[in-house]
Amino acid sequence: MEKEWSFPLPPQVEAVLERLERAGYPAYAVGGCVRDVLRGETVHDWDLCSAASPQQVMELFADGRVLPTGIRHGTVTLLRQGEAFEVTMFRREGHYDGRRPGIVLPARTIQEDLARRDFTVNAMAYSPYRGFEDPCGGRRDLEAGLLRAVGEPEERFREDALRILRGLRFSACFGYKIEEKTAGAMVSQASGLGKLSGERVWQELWKLLAGDFAGEVLVRGQEILRRLRPGWESLNLSAEDGLLFRQMGGPWGRLALLLSRLEEPEAALLELRCPAEGKKRVARLLRQGKSVGHGPFPAWLGEFPRELRREDARSALILSGNQGKMGEMAEILDSGLPLTVGELSINGAQLQQLGVPPGPALGQLLRELLACVWRGQADNEAGALAALAKELL
Ligand code: ATP
Ligand code: MG
Repeated sequence: MEKEWSFPLPPQVEAVLERLERAGYPAYAVGGCVRDVLRGETVHDWDLCSAASPQQVMELFADGRVLPTGIRHGTVTLLRQGEAFEVTMFRREGHYDGRRPGIVLPARTIQEDLARRDFTVNAMAYSPYRGFEDPCGGRRDLEAGLLRAVGEPEERFREDALRILRGLRFSACFGYKIEEKTAGAMVSQASGLGKLSGERVWQELWKLLAGDFAGEVLVRGQEILRRLRPGWESLNLSAEDGLLFRQMGGPWGRLALLLSRLEEPEAALLELRCPAEGKKRVARLLRQGKSVGHGPFPAWLGEFPRELRREDARSALILSGNQGKMGEMAEILDSGLPLTVGELSINGAQLQQLGVPPGPALGQLLRELLACVWRGQADNEAGALAALAKELL
């Protein structure tokens, strides 16, 4: 007998589906949201699809806010009670250039729409009126933890090479094994990755790096990743690196580790379409990964902004092969020791009130006070520091 399962839809989603159905347009929740419900995960966005054209959806929901966010792709966004839902017409793609989906053509049925999706686990749809649609066996694959391309894998990856990266991403996030033929096609079609836009690559790479199984997937998929961008041919990850990815403080640390296994990490970082703040952070990690373990502990810890310190210092220690110092580092971070002059309990203005003239001497005095606190000669407490400052003057 079929396993019993309930398919909870939020009331707003039900209401949208109901209105579409009443107007005569078959409508479903589709793709990632169906997959996530079956995986028992919380759904972060509900994508809906229906037989209605974008114009028809806009007319039908004209009483509320409707945004024409992707008319060319057949998509409009409905805003209902503060939440946004994309409603896309059933589609099949016309032609592909390997970079992005080509012309979008309306499809007549949900089955046709599902057949152009990337992986079987992403090619399922559900409607409270029409039931569960799973023509590609996505549920079976999901239960087996298997990632399988819809249709002929070689062809699907040739049409859009981003699917290769998405495949690695889903494997890294869900821990799914990649079905053999699909995995082979990822390798054989990997040269297509070079044509993808930097934005699309970054979006998927970032999600991949955040996955719990990122390390294993990066190591196993390195042959594919060597085709990602110019300069990546030199990527060389060892089996031990897989473990290091696991120990990293977070995705930025993992990115730094990945880049550090290229011949020219800094150049590759510059090429990536990642946010400027992230670039700065990874550049600092790469630099620190070369130098930590040499200088005195508190000094280099102070180089990380306070809110990133715990995560990034951990990553830097791993990058530099100094895991052995993790305990010592944690002790310093836990102790609440000030690591920069800005973290001292006394500031420049207060020192000036004590008679210290403004200028370089003031900065020098603050640094001396910090060094005294590190040496245990004073507590980080305003009164004690003021007294010490007077002695040092
Ligand atoms: P996430 O949880 O990150 O949102 P997702 O699978 O929902 O994952 P989206 O980018 O939101 O990813 O795409 C929604 C759905 O559209 C997918 O589940 C899949 O069915 C389909 N899809 C997305 N990108 C492609 C693609 N490049 N080729 C074919 N189908 C795609
Ligand atoms: Mg999604």
